[in-house]
Amino acid sequence: MFKSILVAVDGSEIGHRALEETLAVARAMEASVHAVHVVQTATYPSLTLDQLEPPDIAQQALLDALDREADEILADAEQRAAAAGVPLTAHKRWGHPGAEIMALARELGADLTVVGSHGKGRLGRFFLGSTSSYVVDHAASTVMVVRGEPDAS
Ligand code: AMP
Repeated sequence: MFKSILVAVDGSEIGHRALEETLAVARAMEASVHAVHVVQTATYPSLTLDQLEPPDIAQQALLDALDREADEILADAEQRAAAAGVPLTAHKRWGHPGAEIMALARELGADLTVVGSHGKGRLGRFFLGSTSSYVVDHAASTVMVVRGEPDAS
């Protein structure tokens, strides 16, 4: 039985599938559900917007756009959970996706972390995406990897 589930959402079709599977498991086990989206930034790892210094206008515009996209992804997850009748708490993080997902899982004491096999990039037939690989390699508790359809080529 799982008590606390963290699902990583990135706005991709497989990410949506990972959320749907999470909601089904949570309903069956009466577990609490947390969804996280990490705004990936190589330039300012683990910084929040207000920590940027000195402000760089182009960089700031990009970060603002990524921040808005993150809000949309998380709002979509909240709507899907509400439609399924499952309470969900949304978390937005900044930095390296895999590392931030793992840090939040530890903070929450999540006993199950759910990721998609791939994200927005091209589907690989054999290899997991970089974020899912990172989570599988670094997790301290159970991980569920929800697979997408393999590439037909
Ligand atoms: P990837 O490793 O980027 O191909 O993505 C695999 C899975 O990792 C996705 O289906 C999501 O579950 C999760 N993921 C990828 N990027 C992010 C992100 N920026 N924030 C949260 N979850 C992510």
